[in-house]
Amino acid sequence: MQTHEIVRRFTAHFEQAGHTPVPSASLILEDPQLLFVNAGMVQFKPYFLGDVPAPYPRATSIQKCVRTPDIDEVGKTTRHTTFFQMAGNFSFGDYFKRGAIEFAWSLITRSQDDGGYGFDPEIIWVTVYHDDDEAIALWKEIAGLPEERIQRRGGDDNYWDMGVPGPGGPCSEIYVDRGPEFGAEGGPEADEDRYLEIWNLVFMQDERGPLSPKKGHPPIGTLPHKNIDTGMGVERVAFLLQGVNNVYETDLVRPVIAKAEELSGKRYGAGGPEGEIDDVRFRVIADHARSSLMIIGDGVTPGNEGRGYVLRRLLRRVVRSARLLGITGPCLAEFAAVVRDAMSPTYPELATDFERISAVIRAEEDTFRATLTAGERIFSGAVEEARRTQRTVLPGDQAFQLHDTYGFPIDLTLEMAAEAGLTVDRERFTALMDSQRARAKADAAGRKVGFVDASVYRAVLDTHGATDFLGYQTCESESR
Ligand code: ATP
Ligand code: MG
Ligand code: MG
Ligand code: MG
Repeated sequence: MQTHEIVRRFTAHFEQAGHTPVPSASLILEDPQLLFVNAGMVQFKPYFLGDVPAPYPRATSIQKCVRTPDIDEVGKTTRHTTFFQMAGNFSFGDYFKRGAIEFAWSLITRSQDDGGYGFDPEIIWVTVYHDDDEAIALWKEIAGLPEERIQRRGGDDNYWDMGVPGPGGPCSEIYVDRGPEFGAEGGPEADEDRYLEIWNLVFMQDERGPLSPKKGHPPIGTLPHKNIDTGMGVERVAFLLQGVNNVYETDLVRPVIAKAEELSGKRYGAGGPEGEIDDVRFRVIADHARSSLMIIGDGVTPGNEGRGYVLRRLLRRVVRSARLLGITGPCLAEFAAVVRDAMSPTYPELATDFERISAVIRAEEDTFRATLTAGERIFSGAVEEARRTQRTVLPGDQAFQLHDTYGFPIDLTLEMAAEAGLTVDRERFTALMDSQRARAKADAAGRKVGFVDASVYRAVLDTHGATDFLGYQTCESESR
């Protein structure tokens, strides 16, 4: 079943049950806690918080999401992409646990001939919050799930709140068992690769105080109007229903891998230890090219801070991965065209705005290729030197030189060092950065360079090198 059909069935199922279809919000919403929208509920927050009355009792959406905390998982797990689409149904003080479980169960297990996804009920597992006996009883009653396929989990996995006093509640997650060839028995608690999480149901029922129930503290009360917030991973359902090995091989992502095969002359899935490393590169290219395009489509341009920096990092990882696959010429625009063709039936702005998008991409690629060419020589020299002297740590001075002279952001150096089996002396690197900043400040205070305080520029330039990027944590605290 193609991705667009999965989406179509989801919307039809919930529209039929009285949900108002609401278009995806932009990836960029004014929300101080978030760099990018990372869940379907984000645009409905004011209704959940009770700040604004909900204009409808039930809604459904297919929300564009970006999760930067998942960037390092990309290509390595079978199930994490930085951009994905979250299909959701929402109840604002209307139906609660029973409704949420009934709707989800019927969509996933109803036969494909009858508009459902047709999963065999025997391979479905669920998790519930450890004290949520009500949810357990409902799963048994509605789905006939046996005790063994219902697992209780603690706050980290199965309690949702916003990290501040306000609404919160237990979650129940739905998993599909991919079979014994994919890992150990024992349910999601044992192996989240064999048991693939497809859908999270959040039962918003509690008022949480300053101390989070996530951490074992009891909620301070019960919400007067209970809400439902759910999120189903469209790409994960596609992965299962298309009989492929991971989310990167699904119909809307895989074409980029094919383009990278064509440009590199290498084959995805060639096998062997080298082949496996290459496969991760293929998947990184496919994922990051797609998320970059979606992010640029929503108006972000590469930069040294915040969203712009995330975008820069994604684009640069595509360029590097392509280079490591042996693609020597510029390639971003070619990947972009493939992403456009795959995604524009749903997101037409990618086609209508393609001139602008590809101009942004080309400029970033040109700059980065120049940076890489210059810096790679220095970097390889440093690695050789470390090997020769049998050190496993790359000196902070060299990381600093790469940053200062060649514009290598520290995370690039860290990533390349890790690939070479080395770590980096970050303490020394940070000390050098700090003293440089102090010098620049003193300089600027001492003499005016063209009537400008140069330390301001220095600070901007340094941002992506010296500071760990806070957006990742900020986003993580928001994800369910
Ligand atoms: P996981 O445990 O696999 O990282 P999660 O528990 O963080 O997923 P939720 O926050 O519950 O995910 O999001 C709801 C649904 O969105 C998940 O059940 C999954 O189907 C999908 N999803 C979450 N993160 C990703 C991702 N990085 N790529 C693709 N789909 C995702
Ligand atoms: Mg996650
Ligand atoms: Mg999970
Ligand atoms: Mg989850």
